[in-house]
Amino acid sequence: MNEKRSEINELGEFGLIDRIAGQVSLQHPSSVKGIGDDAAVIDAGNDFVLVSTDLLAEGVHFDLAFTPLQHLGHKAVSVNVSDIAAMHGRAEQVVVSLALSNRFSVEAVDALYEGIRAACAQYKVDLVGGDTTASRSGLVISITVVGRVAKDKVVYRSGAKPNDIICVTGDLGAAYTGLQILEREKEVYLSNPDMQPGLEKYEYLVGRQLRPIARTDIVFELEELGIKPTSMIDVSDGLASELFHLGKNSNVGTRIFEDKIPIDQSTFETTALEFKIDPITCALNGGEDYELLFTISQDDFEKIKNHADIHMIGYVHEKPNEHSMVTKQGNEVPLRAQGWNHFKS
Ligand code: ADP
Ligand code: MG
Repeated sequence: MNEKRSEINELGEFGLIDRIAGQVSLQHPSSVKGIGDDAAVIDAGNDFVLVSTDLLAEGVHFDLAFTPLQHLGHKAVSVNVSDIAAMHGRAEQVVVSLALSNRFSVEAVDALYEGIRAACAQYKVDLVGGDTTASRSGLVISITVVGRVAKDKVVYRSGAKPNDIICVTGDLGAAYTGLQILEREKEVYLSNPDMQPGLEKYEYLVGRQLRPIARTDIVFELEELGIKPTSMIDVSDGLASELFHLGKNSNVGTRIFEDKIPIDQSTFETTALEFKIDPITCALNGGEDYELLFTISQDDFEKIKNHADIHMIGYVHEKPNEHSMVTKQGNEVPLRAQGWNHFKS
């Protein structure tokens, strides 16, 4: 045997997806958008139907040492609903597939579904099916969400135009900071089980990691304001990585301003003082904030400028794949798309 073996980590997650996408062609006219956006877009007659799936694996995406199963169930639904929101659509159904090892009891599955049901109620989504199987190595949850959007309302990653304003909702970097806290407290607990973790002070940050909320509210509000973004994506891998995705799909570049990036006070204090890392790094390269990043035409500036939870952080320009940040000191530095590389190590 002398077959070539290429390592997946050389290609990376995005390289691998690009490779798969290059090997696939679409045959149905109803397959409006295949691989490459937050959800697939399917022509269903009057509307577009949206489909997206996300898989969470124990030891990769979550650590049951500090993740309550209710929260995990809720998060697994939220991250899927977020992808539908990123298409400017509304989620309607989910199917839930589980691989379970015998380590899990019926009560554990009940707790997981308590969270799933709570999220379904919160987002007004119906749980309509799934699959259950055994696993030899921990828990795997895969959720597929189905949503809907009017044909003239769908927003892709690909519509950003030079001079558009780049907007992001909420605040960034908190979920990553929350994860650092949980991992630190786990180490403290393992070395001294009598120590109770003191998490009260970090409630916001830990909550952002364990129980993110999909920004379905923003989809409604943009509609009320009469704004259709020119492009949109949800922030699952960190702001920098998502700017690269928008830029690549829209064939444009971006320039953002450090002092405009929304970071919560608690993220600032915890990252800078306790972890000695730059909060901006957490916002740019942390992950799992599940906020919405979108671009709007300059014509829509007046409609959005007073919105308390939508922050204008920069501009789109015509140079493809050139993404930079103007620092607080006024220097322009190139951004790097880090994202998560699950195939590392
Ligand atoms: P998101 O972060 O929004 O969930 P991903 O980065 O996971 O998006 O996926 C980007 C695109 O690649 C999506 O269109 C997704 O459906 C597609 N994709 C991801 N993994 C695969 C795969 N193994 N086979 C086919 N398509 C995939
Ligand atoms: Mg997404």
